[in-house]
Amino acid sequence: MTQAKIAVVGSNMVDLITYTSRMPGPGETLEAPSFELGCGGKGANQAVAAAKLGADVVMVTKVGDDIFGKNTMHNLESFGIDTTHVTQVQGTSSGVAPIFVEPSGENSILIIKGANATLSPADVDAAEDKLRQAALILMQMEVPLETVYHTIRRASEWGVRTILNPAPAAPDLDVTRLRGLDYLIPNETELAILSGRETGDEAGIVDAARALMAQGIGHVIVTLGGRGVRLVTADQVQAIPAVQVKAVDTTGAGDAFIGSFAHFLTQMGEPVAALHQAVRFAAHSVTGRGTQKSYATAAEFADFCR
Ligand code: ATP
Repeated sequence: MTQAKIAVVGSNMVDLITYTSRMPGPGETLEAPSFELGCGGKGANQAVAAAKLGADVVMVTKVGDDIFGKNTMHNLESFGIDTTHVTQVQGTSSGVAPIFVEPSGENSILIIKGANATLSPADVDAAEDKLRQAALILMQMEVPLETVYHTIRRASEWGVRTILNPAPAAPDLDVTRLRGLDYLIPNETELAILSGRETGDEAGIVDAARALMAQGIGHVIVTLGGRGVRLVTADQVQAIPAVQVKAVDTTGAGDAFIGSFAHFLTQMGEPVAALHQAVRFAAHSVTGRGTQKSYATAAEFADFCR
């Protein structure tokens, strides 16, 4: 079957994970037992989730002129993702996330956006040929907000559907500039920040989602971790429960959910069936360690659903 194209306009990061017995104090040098390099960034994670399921994915992102940039490029290519519009910025670092993990499992994380902070509306226009061919454009918030607003506006002109995952939460996101967005997919905290409302119970979640939809957004899908998701439209609310599994590591579950939802939506054409599949895919991802490596391939996913 020919796959509909999914375009991701978003971030990439390299996770620099140090496992340490404790955090060093100011001025202290401490030897740590081990280190791991991982590919991440919300945009790249979502692109990889869709690509592992067999989607035809193109990514619009920027990397720095360092080894991390080359590593990211190779990683995306290894999943068959089209990197024509992954550009290298001279004199800038790649996006990196130094992560320190203590024996208790406690994480301390620094995020350096690096080249991601330079992804501009002009980069979106430069990728117009690929973006216009896409069935769906997927965005997150680790790139400049102006780039997100511009992508939504251009996609509306082209008649291409859009999904925005407003993560990490940005209180300065101007919801009035999301007019024409097809799907907004926040978690509970992001929903509360964007709507300025309490989202402590089901009624609050629906009110907050409808307040955002009043700004010209088609659907709001709220993710609630182990409680599943809620699809809110103008006239209905659908509750889709999470699939019960033994969770080993929930890192990257949100990205698994969104990347796979994009894929299933292009395959199935309507959101409810796509959401049932995406909650299964996200549940599978929490049964394994890591982020991208915990995402199932199409064959692994078929096995999991059997
Ligand atoms: P993160 O930023 O930690 O990746 P998030 O806050 O964006 O996550 P969540 O709402 O935690 O997103 O998770 C997304 C979806 O993944 C949930 O709606 C649910 O379907 C699935 N999920 C998450 N945690 C679990 C779990 N423990 N068991 C089963 N499914 C889960």
